[in-house]
Amino acid sequence: MGAFSILLFPHGEVSYGLPLFPKQYQAVEQIDAGDHYACMYCGHVEQLSTPNERCSRCHNKYIGWAKAINIEVIR
Ligand SMILES: [Zn+2]
Repeated sequence: MGAFSILLFPHGEVSYGLPLFPKQYQAVEQIDAGDHYACMYCGHVEQLSTPNERCSRCHNKYIGWAKAINIEVIR
């Protein structure tokens, strides 16, 4: 049969990830409602209500949140 699948985001959908540029890779001090933030330790992305919120994935290893950027995957 040779069935295989490739996981791709449909065009136009975005995912969130850590910023690629050091200037953007800084812990935020305030949270904008509706924005996504990436844990600077593990990269886990969450919507936050406070910058002091702990990462739900790595908890105590949390070092800060960087604003996550939208990555549009283009085929
Ligand atoms: Zn984390």
